Amino acid sequence: MSVFDEIRGLSLSDFLEKQLNVKPLRSGKTLRFSSCPACGEGSVKSVRLKVHADDRHCKCYRCPFSGDILDCAEELWRVSKKECIDMLLGKTPSATPQIKPRQVKSDSEIAAENAAQNAALKEALVKIQALSEQYANEQECLDYLMIERNIPEYVIREMQRRKMLGFLPTDPKKARAALILAVGENLLKASGLWNPDKKASAIFFRPIVFFLPGLTSAEFRIIGPESDTYTKSLRYGESKLPYVYRNGPAKKAMIVEGFIDMMSAISLGYMGHVVCIPGCNNWNIKQFLYLAAYLGIEKWLIALDNDNEELDDPNVQNGTFKNPGQSWANILREAFTENNLRFSQYSPPPNMDINGILQARKVA
Ligand SMILES: [Zn+2]
Repeated sequence: MSVFDEIRGLSLSDFLEKQLNVKPLRSGKTLRFSSCPACGEGSVKSVRLKVHADDRHCKCYRCPFSGDILDCAEELWRVSKKECIDMLLGKTPSATPQIKPRQVKSDSEIAAENAAQNAALKEALVKIQALSEQYANEQECLDYLMIERNIPEYVIREMQRRKMLGFLPTDPKKARAALILAVGENLLKASGLWNPDKKASAIFFRPIVFFLPGLTSAEFRIIGPESDTYTKSLRYGESKLPYVYRNGPAKKAMIVEGFIDMMSAISLGYMGHVVCIPGCNNWNIKQFLYLAAYLGIEKWLIALDNDNEELDDPNVQNGTFKNPGQSWANILREAFTENNLRFSQYSPPPNMDINGILQARKVA
């Protein structure tokens, strides 16, 4: 057995728990840590680092870091690969506490489980989309978007008509009853929308729903700002494409982050397509190349701000960004340049997003 095989047998989550000194949160089959080996500690509610179901690989949602246990060790210890290996395997005295072995599940087993969950999620989201049409006039949802976010009603109605936006009952008890009736408790649990260990699903408390193309993924949002109890928005599933609001024969497109900013860009009268990435590192350059070809987009406007890099809590900047040049907006721009996609850049004023501009208009 090579040292690399031995390293592969170690539990990444156990290593991170011991090294970062934080307990992970379970999210479906993956674990989330509030700290990252590269960009450091987040707020208590941060879920920046994801450890995949294989317990071997992780990915940060705040910085570009991703890797396996050896990459994490090198990032944390800043010594040579050889020294990291010796420390990980406990061959160097006074190193780290002994790391537990990984619960070995075969890759095919994990793939089969993921496929079953993805199929269940799509089935559940189709039903939730249909259910949300019954609650299209849910007053608190409308009030939040129209009064607090200054989104005009015609934009909300158009989003509903395009099946990109849906409302559920704002009373969690009613949401629970309606979802169990329409989707079924078993399917909610099989789809990952309801953690079987919990009495309630987090989506019962998040009545504003944004549906990604193909209904393989959706985002559920609370009404109002984030509280200590509730994370603002939760996304389930993976989508092949970002949100896309098509605008006739336009040859240009704006890129924003977050659905409220997408509706704000439309409300401000932007005449091109609006492409919205659901999280700051939730994109892939192939998606933009595909959209450029499919929609005939010749020019892009990148409207991401550099300040809000944290997926889970865009309103709080935890410490300073280690290397601003490595922000996601920058990485996106570099990828556009490398792939010969023409773009210009729009930067909202500091501490303001596109919705902030829309709201400032109301005051003016
Ligand atoms: Zn990070």
